[in-house]
Amino acid sequence: MVLLDGKFISEKIKEEIKIEVQNIKNNGGRTPHLAAVLVGNDGASLTYVGSKVRSCKKVGFESTLIHLDENISEDNLISEINKLNDNDQIDGYIVQLPLPKHINEEKILMMVNPKKDVDGFHPFNFGKMAQNMDSFIPATPHGIIELIDRYDIDTEGKNTVVIGRSNIVGRPTSILMSNKSKPGNSTVTLVHSRTPDIPSFTKKADIIIVALGIPNFLKSDMIKQGSVVIDVGITRVQDKTKKKGYRIVGDVDFESVKTKVSYITPVPGGVGPMTIAMLLKNTLKARINN
Ligand code: NAP
Repeated sequence: MVLLDGKFISEKIKEEIKIEVQNIKNNGGRTPHLAAVLVGNDGASLTYVGSKVRSCKKVGFESTLIHLDENISEDNLISEINKLNDNDQIDGYIVQLPLPKHINEEKILMMVNPKKDVDGFHPFNFGKMAQNMDSFIPATPHGIIELIDRYDIDTEGKNTVVIGRSNIVGRPTSILMSNKSKPGNSTVTLVHSRTPDIPSFTKKADIIIVALGIPNFLKSDMIKQGSVVIDVGITRVQDKTKKKGYRIVGDVDFESVKTKVSYITPVPGGVGPMTIAMLLKNTLKARINN
């Protein structure tokens, strides 16, 4: 079994980005600049945004955190978004999800200028990705594909099962794995909460990508010998033995499947760090495109 070390690969990607940023600066270019919009004080969102901002520093980007009150009106949030769209010092920005319930997430995401949409959530970018055109690919699916690529895992003609059909993980991942590209070219089945008998699909899969948010969902008796398992799940489970009072658990029952798989991502240290690295990569792309 080979551990797909997202932490190690993401550090490597960050080093590559750092060199490119240095080259831009050495040639008198402007430093790439990522902004993050955070509404409210959700614990997990604060952690994610904090780590994105810290990563910017690490690669030599400028970063701006726009932390807004959780009671901000939709109109005022839209005007903050418009300011970012108009600010030519900002190459790309993200709106950290979830947004508070009184705000229409879809409406906000539609306001993001696709040229600055480094999360790749705008339908303009999503559509281009689906047609295998150059675009901003959502960071988590992009991270999964990059990890598969860096470990040179063969995906062509393989049976891939993606569990979960969210717009930010499952569905884009299923598209990328089926695209005419490398990695890609696999035969993809996308399963979800309305799929009867999920094990009948996963047992035949060469590659399983699990993104549903149910700790330890995928068990050893649901997979075949030698399969590749990618665990996207991140759930905080209460754990009093930990300093933070919780631990992070994935969607895969790692202990039970580890002896059966050929490759597997750990949680934490697998897809999570890759997500941040790919967000940085998208920001660099936005800077170069500008
Ligand atoms: P989501 O929007 O809640 O989507 C979950 C998907 O799983 C839905 O399509 C849902 O089906 C499906 N599902 C739920 N219960 C199921 C079941 N019993 N059997 C089969 N399918 C089921 O979640 P998400 O945003 O995609 O995130 C999934 C997980 O990945 C979460 O743990 C999240 O924290 C994590 N995540 C990690 C990263 C990272 O960087 N590592 C990034 C993003 C998300 P329906 O469509 O039918 O409801």
